Amino acid sequence: MRGDPVPLSKILGDQDPVPQSNRIAAAAEASRNLEKAPEISSEAIGESADLKNTVVVVGGGVAGMAAATALADAGFRVTLLERRGYLGGRASSYLHPGTGEIIDNCQHVLFGCCTNLVDFYRRIGVDDRIFWDSRMTLIEPGGRRSVLAPSGLPAPMHGLPGILMSRCFSLTDKLSLAFAFMAILLGPKPREDRSLADWLDTHLQSRGALNRFWRLVIASALNADLEDIRLPIAAKVIRQVFLNSPGAGAMGMSRIPLSDLYGGARGYLEERKGRIVFNASVDSASWNEEKRVWTVTAQSCVFHAETLVLALPFEAAAKLLPKMPANAASEALAETLKSIEHRPICSAHLWFDREITELDHAVLLDRDIHWMYHKSRWQPARNAKASYVELVVSASREFAALSREAALERARTQLAEFFPEVSRARLVKSALIKEMRATFLVPPGVPAVHVGPESPWPNCFLAGDWTDTDWAATMESACRSGYRAAEAACRNQGDPRTILAPDLPPSGFMKMFV
Ligand SMILES: Cc1cc2nc3c(=O)[nH]c(=O)nc-3n(C[C@H](O)[C@H](O)[C@H](O)COP(=O)(O)OP(=O)(O)OC[C@H]3O[C@@H](n4cnc5c(N)ncnc54)[C@H](O)[C@@H]3O)c2cc1C
Repeated sequence: MRGDPVPLSKILGDQDPVPQSNRIAAAAEASRNLEKAPEISSEAIGESADLKNTVVVVGGGVAGMAAATALADAGFRVTLLERRGYLGGRASSYLHPGTGEIIDNCQHVLFGCCTNLVDFYRRIGVDDRIFWDSRMTLIEPGGRRSVLAPSGLPAPMHGLPGILMSRCFSLTDKLSLAFAFMAILLGPKPREDRSLADWLDTHLQSRGALNRFWRLVIASALNADLEDIRLPIAAKVIRQVFLNSPGAGAMGMSRIPLSDLYGGARGYLEERKGRIVFNASVDSASWNEEKRVWTVTAQSCVFHAETLVLALPFEAAAKLLPKMPANAASEALAETLKSIEHRPICSAHLWFDREITELDHAVLLDRDIHWMYHKSRWQPARNAKASYVELVVSASREFAALSREAALERARTQLAEFFPEVSRARLVKSALIKEMRATFLVPPGVPAVHVGPESPWPNCFLAGDWTDTDWAATMESACRSGYRAAEAACRNQGDPRTILAPDLPPSGFMKMFV
C-alpha cells in the first residue's frame, strides 16, 4: 500500500463534523508568501473606530492560528500579526535554495491522541491532508525488522502482541518494558521533581529496553535526554500513545508541505472578516486603562484592539516583555522564562534516483539517525519513482555540531546500513536543516512553568507550546494553548464557551484507570 489515506474517522471514531469549504485553495494561495511576502499593511484600526470585539493575535505559529481561528468563530474581529512571510512558525516549509524543492523545516508528526490539533485541522479544512498509519516499523542495522501495531486485544493490551513478537527486543527487554508499563499504569502519581532516567534506574530496565525503546522512541520523540525529561511528561506519553486506546497511537503525517497545510488558516480567517499581516514583527505593546485598548506596534505600523493574545515562543515573549507595561507579575514572568531551555533537532533530506525501500516510514535503531520518513511515497507532489527521504536526528547536540558535509555523509552512510539499495542508488541532491531552537524543556528539579493563558495584564492572554498545557513541546501543546487563550478571551467578554476538544476516551480495560 502506497501511503493510501486512512479515513480519520476510522482511527478516531466519529466526531462532530466541521463545515467544509474550499480552503485548500486558500492554503495554496497562502503558500505563495514563501516566494514573495505581501507588503506590510500600513493601515491601523484607528482609535476612533469601534473596537468592540477586536483582537490582535501576535504570532502565526500553531498556537496563534488556533487562537485566531477560534476567536474568529466566536465573533471577534481578528488581526493576526506574523513576523515572517508565511504561517506555521516552527512547523513550516520553504523553498530550499540549494535543491529547488519546497521542504519542511522538519518532519512533524502527530498522534491520534492530539485531539485539539485534529480539531484545528478539521476547522481549517485540511484534515483530509493527513496520512495516518498505526504501524511503527523498527529496523536494526543490517535490515532486520520488527513491527509494533495494535492487535485486536482490548487496551491496554492492544500493543502487547507487537512487543512480544518483535525481534529487536530480547526476552529480558520485553519483560523490562512490560514491568515499566505496569508501573506507570498502577504506580503512584509521577513526581514532578523526578527525571525519567532516575525512574528507569529504579525499574530494572535492560540495556536493550533503555537504548531501543526509552532512548530512541520516547526520548527522541520528546527531543531530550532521559536525564532531562520530567517523569510526569514521559508517563503521559506512555499512557496516551501506547496504553489508552489503539487509535490514540496512530501516527499522522502531512501529505502537503506544512506551510500549505497551515495556509488554510488564512482563508478561514478572511471568510470571518479577519486578516493576517505578514512581515509584522511586534516590538512593543501598551495598555490604555481609560479607553481599555491595547496599542501594538510592529515596526512602523500601529494596531489597536480591545484584546491581545501573545502566541510567541518563550524567547520572543522574553524579548517583548520589557516593552510591555511593567508590574510585579510581569517581572515574575520574566524570571520564570529564564528557566526554560532549548533543544535542537536536525533533519537530513536526501533525494535518490530510485526507490530505496517500500516502507513509508521507520524507526532506525542504534545509530544517530532516528526516524526515516519516506516522503515521496505519501506526498503526491514528489517524484514517486525515486526516493525523497527525510532523516530526523532528535536531541543530539553532537550531530548538530557536525559540518553540513559531515552530517549528510554520516546520514547517508548510516541509512545504507538499514536499506542496501542506498549503496546502489545515486544521491541526486541533499539538504541539512539544523533547528537549534526546536523545542523547549524545563529540566527536572527546576520548578515547572505554570504560565498562561492569563497574563500579568488586563485583556491580554498568553499562548505558545511552552505555556501550561500539561503536554510536551508539540503542535498539540501549541494548539491547546491557543484554544485555552481563546477560551479565556471569550470568558473575559462574558462568553463562557468551551473550545478545547476533549481527550480521546480510554477504551477497553483502560476505562478502569481514568
Ligand atoms: C525541527 C522541529 C521538529 C519538530 N517536530 C515535531 C513533531 O514531530 N511533532 C510535534 O507535534 N511538534 C514538533 N515540533 C514542535 C512544534 O513545531 C512546536 O511545538 C510548535 O510548532 C510550536 O508552535 P507555537 O505556535 O507555540 O510557536 P512557534 O511555532 O514558534 O510560533 C510562533 C510564531 O511567532 C512568530 N513571532 C516571533 N516573534 C514575533 C514578533 N515579535 N512579532 C510577530 N511574530 C513573531 C514566529 O515567526 C512564529 O511564526 C518540532 C519543532 C521543530 C523545530
